[in-house]
Amino acid sequence: MKEEGLLIVLSGPSGVGKGTVRKEIFSQPDINFEYSISMTTRLPREGEVDGVDYFFKTKEEFEQLIAQDKLLEYAEYVGNYYGTPVDYVKQTLASGKDVFLEIEVQGAKQVREKFPEGLFIFLAPPSLSELHSRIVNRGTESDELIRGRMEKARKEIEMMNLYDYVVENDQVEHACERIKAIVVAEHCRLNRV
Ligand code: 5GP
Repeated sequence: MKEEGLLIVLSGPSGVGKGTVRKEIFSQPDINFEYSISMTTRLPREGEVDGVDYFFKTKEEFEQLIAQDKLLEYAEYVGNYYGTPVDYVKQTLASGKDVFLEIEVQGAKQVREKFPEGLFIFLAPPSLSELHSRIVNRGTESDELIRGRMEKARKEIEMMNLYDYVVENDQVEHACERIKAIVVAEHCRLNRV
């Protein structure tokens, strides 16, 4: 029988660069894990494509998914819902492939409860002031939203000891290399090469 795949969870405060790190990882040719595209009720940012970046849903559609137990985890984050489709994750793991989630910390906590054997990686900013400039430089958020995200980030950083690994996002390429190395190490640890 084929072994189940490994569930890899990348989390950390918003603005730390999870999305950038994840995109960089998946742009590399030697990656053999699958990205689970999340559902969200937030509006698409410029250039974002439905079914590629997110599955964009209305609040009603999302609440129906919750009621039907279609989400492995979900969280309300800065006024919007975000969640992971459970069927995709379970089917992909069952087929023996690794699945990669890039989610915020409340969701990661829920996944930890359901998949304690998953591999949990916390992406940490070099410092809070660095995180603040990254969010401001992104230029997509209002001052009030930025304040909300920073307050959340402070609380999220306190949670990093709940993770298996902490990777500092000093430079995207370095963070990617460390994450890939951690996945290889985890396979070796589990005697799955
Ligand atoms: P953004 O709006 O910047 O794309 O994402 C906001 C936050 O939601 C980020 O921290 C991102 O990692 C997180 N996120 C994206 N997809 C999911 C998901 O499926 N579940 C949870 N809990 N968080 C998510």
